[in-house]
Amino acid sequence: MPLQPEDLRWLACPVCRQPLALDADALRCTGCGRRYPLVDGIPVLLADRAS
Ligand SMILES: [Zn+2]
Repeated sequence: MPLQPEDLRWLACPVCRQPLALDADALRCTGCGRRYPLVDGIPVLLADRAS
């Protein structure tokens, strides 16, 4: 099942704890602007994977 926008309320940036916004292929932090990749629809919220 693809990630739904309402799922994002459970998620926060591990770096700055701000909410995340869903991009086409990544989650983008609304605070610091880091982008976390989606791997098979699963967000990878690891600071060292962020771009
Ligand atoms: Zn952040």
